[in-house]
Amino acid sequence: MKKFDYIIIGAGPAGTFCAYKIISDNPNARVLILDSGSPVEKRTCPAEIAGQCIHCKVCDITHGFAGAGAFSDCKLSLYNPEDTTFVGGELEDYRSTEKIKNLIDEVVSVYRKYGAPKNEEGGKDHPVAKKYAEPAKNAGLALVTVPFIHTGTTLGRDLFYKIEQELLEKGVSIEFYANVKDILLQDGKASGVEYLKHKHKYKVFAPKVILATGRAGISWNKEICQKLVVKSHVGKIKMGVRYEVPDAVMGDINQLYEPKFKARATKETDAALTFCHNPYCGSVVSESYDGEITLVNGHADTEPTGRTNLALLFKMDLGENSIEVAKNMAKTINLAANGQVMVQRYGDFVRNLRTEPEHLARNSVQPTLKAAYPSNLQWGMTPRLVNNIITFVNQIDKVLPGFAGPDNLLYGLEMKFSNFIIELDQNLMTSLPGLYAIGDGAGLTNGLIQASASGWLLGEILAK
Ligand SMILES: Cc1cc2nc3c(=O)[nH]c(=O)nc-3n(C[C@H](O)[C@H](O)[C@H](O)COP(=O)(O)OP(=O)(O)OC[C@H]3O[C@@H](n4cnc5c(N)ncnc54)[C@H](O)[C@@H]3O)c2cc1C
Repeated sequence: MKKFDYIIIGAGPAGTFCAYKIISDNPNARVLILDSGSPVEKRTCPAEIAGQCIHCKVCDITHGFAGAGAFSDCKLSLYNPEDTTFVGGELEDYRSTEKIKNLIDEVVSVYRKYGAPKNEEGGKDHPVAKKYAEPAKNAGLALVTVPFIHTGTTLGRDLFYKIEQELLEKGVSIEFYANVKDILLQDGKASGVEYLKHKHKYKVFAPKVILATGRAGISWNKEICQKLVVKSHVGKIKMGVRYEVPDAVMGDINQLYEPKFKARATKETDAALTFCHNPYCGSVVSESYDGEITLVNGHADTEPTGRTNLALLFKMDLGENSIEVAKNMAKTINLAANGQVMVQRYGDFVRNLRTEPEHLARNSVQPTLKAAYPSNLQWGMTPRLVNNIITFVNQIDKVLPGFAGPDNLLYGLEMKFSNFIIELDQNLMTSLPGLYAIGDGAGLTNGLIQASASGWLLGEILAK
């Protein structure tokens, strides 16, 4: 019978930073990380060779060591020193402002130790942030900007590889290709897990089990929480499209790298935000969820593409089954796009017209995601989502003229499955004793730094 002190499900930033903190504070701890994906150095997306998403059951973009962080732009969001709010998560519900700043500082020092750049960019005191604050307000938008560190995809993967090696050297056990299927119980407490690896079932035991399964694990989290009667609820889902424009449209606001525009909800529209900006070297990518649906995302590396991509997301109430409803919308769009991500010219979207391949070939903005299939996104969207997109694009166009240009491109759908909220106490423990939850999969965070900070915080709590 294999026994550990801690079993962490998920080797994303939340799980790995949790392991890192436990083993640093308590070098004798027996820590096991289980992940359904591969070591970071073995992760490759077949779309790079096949030219299109082949719907892998375990998607290399989102599964494996470094989780969804491996192919990310690895932008590390910090905080404005005088501010009391943060981006990328809800840790404020669990700790004081000072403690969160302290946690962010600690995880950033780890990212830097393994190669993240020293310099910070952006922030609300940047002259460009000051220049756009008033025009944004006049357009009914808030411009939110925090300082950040831009690591980039290549350096980011290298950095996660070093963390992986360090954890192994420090004695953390990491089991890859291990798909956790069940949480085991003893006397009403979590006591271990059952996982499937290469078609064989294994059981491992520990008095403390940590769910760090990210957005890719949300359906399983929901299943297991229902089965074990772990307190949880479904919140509004963040969904929308990826938008791609020439850098010239964004102009000097790109110097902020991650300028977030936010709009409040009205009777006709939902709360809107821009998210995950990838300027100058931006490329749109696809990601597969459980081999079921293909969604869109974006990243940036070192080669200039002349394009900026960003997500236009809306917090939508799709009822108790919002995850399934949203997945069905994505499935419809995938179906209409021959199993791929769909792309559409903004001018066609507004007029509810399909973008024909020959029109796209002549379009001044060419898609960076070559496999994207031109068609009509409105076929798979609710009228409210269509209205959300057009209203928000027009608002931003008042600040950045050309943002509503007809040749700009929409890709769909983009979704952030962080709306399944697992209820936690102040020690990040669920209502099932011995079962803890951190990161995006708990509905607690939605970015690298807060996911890492949630893992660090739990590591600190548990190592005590
Ligand atoms: C393309 C892309 C670009 C991004 N860019 C940025 C960025 O620049 N800046 C930023 O702050 N954020 C970015 N993000 C978001 C960021 O990557 C996530 O917020 C972060 O990785 C969440 O960390 P996590 O540990 O909670 O979950 P994840 O990173 O999703 O890791 C969860 C892990 O759990 C594993 N898992 C799930 N279920 C099971 C199971 N049943 N059994 C075993 N293993 C399981 C998965 O394989 C995965 O490895 C990006 C995401 C993507 C996809």
